[in-house]
Amino acid sequence: MSNETMKIPQATAKRLPLYYRFLQNLHSSGKQRVSSAELSEAVKVDSATIRRDFSYFGALGKKGYGYNVNYLLTFFRRTLDQDELTKVALIGVGNLGTAFLHYNFLKNNNTKIELAFDVDQDKIGTSISDVPIYSMDDLEKYLIEEEVQVVILTVPAPVAQMITDRLVNTNVKGILNFTPARLNVPSSIRVHHIDLAVELQSLVYFLKHYPTNEVIEE
Ligand code: ATP
Repeated sequence: MSNETMKIPQATAKRLPLYYRFLQNLHSSGKQRVSSAELSEAVKVDSATIRRDFSYFGALGKKGYGYNVNYLLTFFRRTLDQDELTKVALIGVGNLGTAFLHYNFLKNNNTKIELAFDVDQDKIGTSISDVPIYSMDDLEKYLIEEEVQVVILTVPAPVAQMITDRLVNTNVKGILNFTPARLNVPSSIRVHHIDLAVELQSLVYFLKHYPTNEVIEE
């Protein structure tokens, strides 16, 4: 959370999404400024309250001009974290890793694979879908520099723990583990484990034993 956000009173902060939505509509219809009276009418908040709210954002409306829509939108977006991307790195650009690099995660949410790592000299220095592939020698350096918070692990199982141990010295807070290895991590790191082979086996097991999709008693 930014310092600016912390200074805003809660009642004002609660009105932010309301202002934000309305300003987005104004922006898409091409309007560049708006008066507190217009805003007041649209969001049903009295204009004195709006003026006070906006003064917290450093937005001082000028008489006869109103507020700058772009300025407010930029401020709201930042404050509401609407445009904050979680940077993700992928380690192990094999078959599965390559598929992830081709997959556009941004379609669904605010995550983006920004960089990838491998030990294979043929892959290092190339890129896939504009994601550069770096050497494992530079793992900590780039993760820290790029402020990466999440790592997707698609390496062979035997090297998974060794790589995880190196992540402890970076800002990584989450690991999406696609290897069959069970990882030991300190409490500062959260691991989500997705073992595709196990999931598939489990599905086949259920199809065999519960073919009619009946409710299973616990
Ligand atoms: P491929 O067809 O490229 O062999 P794969 O998914 O079948 O892909 P794996 O052996 O599972 O191959 O390896 C996945 C990727 O992890 C490969 O690109 C490999 O070079 C990489 N890799 C292996 N060891 C390490 C390591 N210690 N650190 C980072 N990446 C590694």
